[in-house]
Amino acid sequence: MASPEALETLRRVFGYDAFRDGQGEIIDHVVDGGDALVLMPTGGGKSLCYQIPAQVRKGTGIVISPLIALMQDQVDALRALGVQAGFLNSTLDHDERRVVEAQFAAGELDLLYLAPERFRLGSTIELLDRGTIALFAIDEAHCVSQWGHDFRPDYLMLSGLHERWPDVPRIALTATATEATRAEIASRLGLEQAKHFVASFDRPNIQYRIEPKTDAKRQLLHLLRNEHQGDAGIVYCLSRNSVEKHAEFLTQNGIEALPYHAGLDARTRAEHQSRFLREDGLVIVATIAFGMGIDKPDVRFVAHLDLPKSVEGYYQETGRAGRDGLPSTAWLAYGLQDVVNLRKMIDGGEGDAAHRRRQATHLDSMLALCETVECRRVQLLNYFGQAGGEPCGNCDTCLSPPQTWDATVAAQKVLSVIVRLDRERRQKFGAGHIIDILLGKKSAKVIQFDHDSLKPFGVGADLREAEWRGVVRQLLAQGLIAVESDHGTLLQTEASAEVLRGERKVMMRREAERPAAKAAKTSK
Ligand code: ADP
Ligand code: ZN
Repeated sequence: MASPEALETLRRVFGYDAFRDGQGEIIDHVVDGGDALVLMPTGGGKSLCYQIPAQVRKGTGIVISPLIALMQDQVDALRALGVQAGFLNSTLDHDERRVVEAQFAAGELDLLYLAPERFRLGSTIELLDRGTIALFAIDEAHCVSQWGHDFRPDYLMLSGLHERWPDVPRIALTATATEATRAEIASRLGLEQAKHFVASFDRPNIQYRIEPKTDAKRQLLHLLRNEHQGDAGIVYCLSRNSVEKHAEFLTQNGIEALPYHAGLDARTRAEHQSRFLREDGLVIVATIAFGMGIDKPDVRFVAHLDLPKSVEGYYQETGRAGRDGLPSTAWLAYGLQDVVNLRKMIDGGEGDAAHRRRQATHLDSMLALCETVECRRVQLLNYFGQAGGEPCGNCDTCLSPPQTWDATVAAQKVLSVIVRLDRERRQKFGAGHIIDILLGKKSAKVIQFDHDSLKPFGVGADLREAEWRGVVRQLLAQGLIAVESDHGTLLQTEASAEVLRGERKVMMRREAERPAAKAAKTSK
């Protein structure tokens, strides 16, 4: 259905036979001068949606992208295909900038990549007025959303493009957008009248799995040895320190792994990235600084050793697996401490109260995905506004449906300790101390505060410590307790009272002894 000219460009320049779902329609719409808002998962093929119209239409396609570090690579790749492309960002010196500006003004460029902060400069507007603009492509358009997870204030300036150049079509693209974010992108960029193209967000070849963290290193090793021996993959950690530690651990265990985080110098980072792209079967252990715009088709697994801050982030990171369509694994291990740490980061972080509330909502959605007893994929797609799917048969909850149990009494036990400790307001008591009390352990702290005389002391002997940690984690995820950020003190919530009064039943996932945990014991 795509126009012959677009198809001809696809074949001649890019060497592909046919458009993927959606591409042809989007391209025709933009070639005809229409505005478009494109939602397509990572790896779906968004770039061609503006690169081809930019070549078919008269003038230069202006691409606004926050990924400054990748512009050089993107432009090199286009030039290698014979496309006239250039970029302007802060990495260029005066002379280099001049050359690109002259090429644009002379009409010699098909594509010009710009960092959003360029629009702060009056000179950018003047420059753009000197050439002919084929279209504006606003890449990573979710960056305009304050509600989203990757807000960039400079994106707000892009709302003015339409008034300034009313005849130039605009195409905004993103891989991460819930219905709310999509509406926000449309309103902030003045794209209400634009045609929305929403591709399916399903990545059927990715198997989603989320399990409680018992011994992260052993669990990871088990996954790699048993299912991904010799495969390329990404292991995400929250901190630089943890990146270093885990890269070393894998290497010591015979799995070639490279660290990647913002604390490494630029040369090391670039070297590790390019080795990962070029060599077979390398594992990269990274903070989320790694991966934006990385196009490696045969990443066989993405493992998270810490809880992502949002479902959007999780989806984007796991989406780097299996771009070639072959079976791949998205695996996440998370524990109670993750929840405590993230709450701390949110409460102690920047931004106003509204911002913190939004971040807390993001975290809650992520926790809900972790604790669901339904199909992970159905939940995930639901989150992105694709409702009504059937259980997928290719996620952990479909493959081995979790048992649930009535945890009302256990929840009441935890809450009864919290209520009593709450009376000693000046003291700070975290999960560990509460579990000690439940188990009837006379720890130094228990003795010091005379907590062995509390009524609930020892009432939790029916569960093991790990099980109590699971209970506390699931209570947090269900909003039945809260955590105070400074010291990790556990607190009651409004909903706790209903549980204590016996008006509310609490169901939880049963945490079976996982194979990974068993293997960990034997492999030591
Ligand atoms: P996105 O920006 O949506 O993450 P890209 O535009 O980087 O995805 O495309 C992902 C990969 O798919 C790239 O390697 C690209 O060359 C390839 N690709 C895109 N469109 C097609 C197509 N019609 N046929 C074959 N490969 C394609
Ligand atoms: Zn499923």
